Amino acid sequence: MTSPELESLTIIKYPDPRLRKICEPVVEFDASLRALADRMIVLMNQAEGIGLAAPQVGILKQMFVCAIIGKPKDSMVFVNPTLADLDGEAEAAEEGCLSIPEVTVTVKRPVKCRIDAHDLDGNPVAFEATELMARCWQHECDHLNGRLIIDRMSPADRVANRRALKRLESRFGG
Ligand SMILES: [Zn+2]
Repeated sequence: MTSPELESLTIIKYPDPRLRKICEPVVEFDASLRALADRMIVLMNQAEGIGLAAPQVGILKQMFVCAIIGKPKDSMVFVNPTLADLDGEAEAAEEGCLSIPEVTVTVKRPVKCRIDAHDLDGNPVAFEATELMARCWQHECDHLNGRLIIDRMSPADRVANRRALKRLESRFGG
């Protein structure tokens, strides 16, 4: 990807159909992948988010970036991630999504998880996390499978978010 192409990337919004695609694994760990990750980190920080998946900038590849909780200036990149150890205790908490502004959904997720992935050089990495960071990884991995928090809405969430979703849908159509 050329640098003007990278510069032109923005965070796409629901109901853009690219948010519903299953992402392809990354096979080339090259300079362009690193440049994409850098651009995603800039966009995530500008939007004051803690995670951003490649499909959210319209790139259908299995990659996401996330902030390190407590260290807002640092971030991590996960390529071709898979989650494990999801069988522990689950907890419900409110989540938002940079691609679905003004929508909040209470999502129940395992409190702890493990992630196996590759770094930008293609080296395998594995980490464990709890609480907010584990939640963020699970939210971002959902994106790589075309899954959004609005798929997990309770009837009450559905009512509460109806207007905001309608607004996003009409904006996209027009
Ligand atoms: Zn999201």
